Amino acid sequence: MELLSRDKDTICAPATGPAQGAISVIRISGSNAASITRRLAQFLPEQLESHKIYYGYLRGENDRVLDEVLVSYFAEGRSFTGESTCEISCHGNQFVVDEILLELVRAGARPAERGEFTYRAFIHGRLDLVQAESVLDVIQSRSHRAAQIALRQLQGNLSQELIQIREDLTWVLANLEANIDFAAEDIVVATDDRLVARAEKIKFSIEHAIAAFEKGRSLKDGLLIVLAGRPNVGKSSLLNRLLGENRAIVSPIAGTTRDTVDGVVQWNGNAVRVVDTAGLRISDDEIEKLGIDRTHEKLAEADLIIYVEENFEFLQDGRIEGDLKSEKVVFVLSKSDLLPLEQKRPRYFHHQGTPFPLYEVSSTTGEGLSTLVSELQSRLVASIDHEAQWICNSRQFGLLVKVRDSLADGLTALHNGESPDLVALEFSEALQSIYEVLGLVFDDQVMDRVFSEFCLGK
Ligand code: GDP
Repeated sequence: MELLSRDKDTICAPATGPAQGAISVIRISGSNAASITRRLAQFLPEQLESHKIYYGYLRGENDRVLDEVLVSYFAEGRSFTGESTCEISCHGNQFVVDEILLELVRAGARPAERGEFTYRAFIHGRLDLVQAESVLDVIQSRSHRAAQIALRQLQGNLSQELIQIREDLTWVLANLEANIDFAAEDIVVATDDRLVARAEKIKFSIEHAIAAFEKGRSLKDGLLIVLAGRPNVGKSSLLNRLLGENRAIVSPIAGTTRDTVDGVVQWNGNAVRVVDTAGLRISDDEIEKLGIDRTHEKLAEADLIIYVEENFEFLQDGRIEGDLKSEKVVFVLSKSDLLPLEQKRPRYFHHQGTPFPLYEVSSTTGEGLSTLVSELQSRLVASIDHEAQWICNSRQFGLLVKVRDSLADGLTALHNGESPDLVALEFSEALQSIYEVLGLVFDDQVMDRVFSEFCLGK
């Protein structure tokens, strides 16, 4: 790959966040990383050994001591970026970090842009684009499970699958081209049956990848539980109990939860987002109406709905509003502390002809809460796709859908006995999109968009 002149600069940036900590790490990458670092770290020997740590004092202008540090050195070809890299571990103070960075720039380094270290790893062939994007997914993961999947992706398991698809597609195209070339001599290099079989195999793999991406999406954003029910039945109080903190405003005036309020809990390594909604009721109040529209949107997205009601007769009479899909709903009878003792017994009620258990809960006393939580957890575990392998981003997803569509068009053309040129055109479009997913062809705008999402120093 042709390097732009800016890609030859030696760059520097803090690799750790601005929060105070025991140490901060500053990264320097590029062909002059060692000589620039040595200008501050005069204790470094002339010959540096890769993967070795050196201890000493950094000195700035007029020989002033900047900090007591450790410098790690990674030789070209053996670092994250693929370039010669130094990492300075200094004390975790923003002023110290800023001063060291200033001196590094004085010594000839350029402040790195967002994601520039990962970009360098990409241009030096250390990572393909899908892996580079996984670096971001690992950093931004909202749960243990999402992080695990992103890590596997970083190790290249999705890339391997895509590379296999690329090879199969190249085989189909090469054979189509050969058929075209030898057509005049009536030689068929590969029969249509063989081409169809191979193209069908590719289409199956792509569809599998797309399905896995769709499943992975809920892992990335977290599973979603939505609280629904009439105003004032105790939804906000239950939300606070589930989140273990005071997130929603609890008020005895009906209709106070006007917008959705949410928070995230970690259950069994999965991020679960719990959202409270405006009460489901007809209202003249415009703001509350807006909230109710949002309620319906959220209900459609939900992995699980907790339908809260304080009055057993209301449920029994079949007066639930809204299009609640029964398999997604857990029914809660709230404010159980207000129920007289003789009325406390296991309850069921019928909704659209099906008997449903009711979970009696008091947000005031906490009664029934642990039973409800274990029911929610086991329902969520059942709804998780344990086969989910990949976490998608919209760039990858959009391109894979393009691959699938071009393949489908190519196959239709092949089945209909269209000219091999036309079939080849569709398949080469599919191949082009696979190249784009892996970043083997790209334009600068796409690169800018991908890497600008990163934080500095990554
Ligand atoms: P929402 O409008 O459905 O979100 O309901 P809120 O959570 O704001 O609660 C409405 C009223 O019911 C408030 O006055 C709460 O204090 C009260 N409340 C909520 N949960 C319970 C409960 O378990 N027991 C009792 N006694 N009161 C509750």
